[in-house]
Amino acid sequence: MNISSLRFKLTVWYLVLLGLIVGASGTFLFQVLKEKRIAEFDRNLREQARALASKWEHTEGLSWEQAIAQTGEESLPPYIRLERLSFVDSRSGTRRPASSIRSANVPDGAFEFQKEAYDRGFRSMGGIPAFLTVRDPLLEASPIRVVMMPVSRDEALQYGVSLGAWRDELRSLGFLLLVSGGVILALALAGGSFIIRKALGPVRDVVRAARKISADDLSLRLPSRRQKDEIGELVDTFNGMIARLETSVNDIVRFSGDVSHELRTPLTAIRSEIEVLLRKERTPAEYVDALRSALEETGRLEKIIGDLLFLSRLDTVDGTAGEDEVRLEDIISSVVDRASGPARAKGLRLACKIVESVAVHGRAELLERLAANLVENAIRYTPSGGSIEATVEREESGAGRITVADTGIGIPARAIPGVFDRFTVVDASRSKETGGAGLGLSIVKRVADIHGASVDIESREGEGSRFTVRFPAP
Ligand code: ADP
Repeated sequence: MNISSLRFKLTVWYLVLLGLIVGASGTFLFQVLKEKRIAEFDRNLREQARALASKWEHTEGLSWEQAIAQTGEESLPPYIRLERLSFVDSRSGTRRPASSIRSANVPDGAFEFQKEAYDRGFRSMGGIPAFLTVRDPLLEASPIRVVMMPVSRDEALQYGVSLGAWRDELRSLGFLLLVSGGVILALALAGGSFIIRKALGPVRDVVRAARKISADDLSLRLPSRRQKDEIGELVDTFNGMIARLETSVNDIVRFSGDVSHELRTPLTAIRSEIEVLLRKERTPAEYVDALRSALEETGRLEKIIGDLLFLSRLDTVDGTAGEDEVRLEDIISSVVDRASGPARAKGLRLACKIVESVAVHGRAELLERLAANLVENAIRYTPSGGSIEATVEREESGAGRITVADTGIGIPARAIPGVFDRFTVVDASRSKETGGAGLGLSIVKRVADIHGASVDIESREGEGSRFTVRFPAP
């Protein structure tokens, strides 16, 4: 398994988490069992000590020495010490020294009376037996559990039993818990890693299928999943992305085809003109004619290349046009001024109507290009005798608006949706004589987009067209 893979990481996380849970619950269980056992042990210990005390108390003439000597027949002989505490005799006024009696298994100096614990137990529990665990190397290596209780006014019994056997029992309980924890962990790990592998299986399929999709074959799609889970969503999103990629790659391919075609047409015209010209001797007038027409074609080429460059520069403008304040009436006036010569030459009336001054945020040179393209189109597609009007006004909503209306040939309704596409000419024959390559309106649309504006076309064939550019309300 690859250690940087999601599967490995998930498995490790799962293992760590599970280990913590199993470890914590095992420890808790162990503690609870231990507490329970020690409480039971203490109860037994107290019963044994009490039995000894009551035997001494109820057997006439039995001394403590005899009573202690008689105990210890059990499998685990207890350690016993009877402590006679020192006290002052009220009659004689003398202090009796402390003394003690030990069971036979307690050597001299071992199993000392735990005076402090006895007093503490007495004080805090009002005479209830005190329990404690002691270690005494003189007796044995295992700890010894001890109970201490008063048996008469000045005598205390210290009774202890080895915890060795109990400790062994505790150890095997711990071992059992450890083994079962390990088994649980191993089983859960196997199950968990199976589930993780199953859950990530579809991701692997997606990766494998995605690898097959290359730039040359963007028509391939990942098989759609029936379940709309996260993976299903991923597959759909991925397919959507590939579809968009396919569209834009197709657009680029078509666009470069169109560009080559559009550039080739004027070049071919120039070439054939020159070829025909060179076939035989010509008069100077014929040479001038041919050169003039070649010059016209060159102009056409120049215009196409200029438009293409302009468009590609616009493509690099991201979203916003800038914060300059531009007055639409200034733009329209200067465009109409410049176009009035060509309009007059074609016998057209060109009017400029400023209803209101409108300022928008944007770039003046781009907006001029937009207006110029609309006015040039109007001139181009309006037969002589017609009229054109360019208007600047403000709508009720406060939005600025430029309108260019003509009484020209109009655009058929079915062609309107496509006119903004690059290299779209509505009718090749009518564009041929006027010389457009179908880039003018693409520029208009792109400039409008950059300014957040919309472009609407109303047109009737044979009656005229009206182009409206609406800027967002301030
Ligand atoms: P072109 O350079 O061919 O004019 P445009 O992108 O400017 O390209 O316009 C696309 C097509 O829209 C043109 O071929 C033309 O048929 C049509 N068109 C544009 N403006 C007008 C107009 N004012 N009146 C009629 N048709 C128009």
